[in-house]
Amino acid sequence: MAKFTLYIKHKGGSKDSVDKAVVLLKTYISDTIAKGTTFDSSDVSYVDDSTTPALGETDAVVYVVRNISKSVISSKGGSVAIAESNTNILGLTDLNQKICEVYFDRLYEGSPKELAGACYHELAHIKSNMDNSMHTNQDGFLKGSPDYNGSPTDSNKTFLNKHIGRKVKQNAGY
Ligand SMILES: [Zn+2]
Repeated sequence: MAKFTLYIKHKGGSKDSVDKAVVLLKTYISDTIAKGTTFDSSDVSYVDDSTTPALGETDAVVYVVRNISKSVISSKGGSVAIAESNTNILGLTDLNQKICEVYFDRLYEGSPKELAGACYHELAHIKSNMDNSMHTNQDGFLKGSPDYNGSPTDSNKTFLNKHIGRKVKQNAGY
């Protein structure tokens, strides 16, 4: 019995929005693992800034920060230049440092739908180990200018499911 858990670590922005995004993500992830047999259960768990969850070898963490000046990627020496130059980018993944983050101030009125979608998008980057090449031939949540209305498309869920069992050693203690 294998379980996948996604941790959403709340470092900035409205807790209410993050809580609502976690609820949405529970459905998105559950529908995603249902596309395959790697996992038979899943969860999405809210984590506050002072807590470091113990990640299982296939688990993942996405950080929610207030704005780009609070970037975890930059604080660890990575580059967020691409997001500094394009404010339509809601989040970034650093594949070398294995950090996923979403910028709360870029969500439309703190939209939980956009937040959940952006977390799903960054999770797909880290699990597929693909940079912007991931966007090619994708639609919905995983294309270059993602549409976070509705839910992940069939193609999105099939893609993430294919990669979701990959073991990525992320650090949940930032
Ligand atoms: Zn992307």
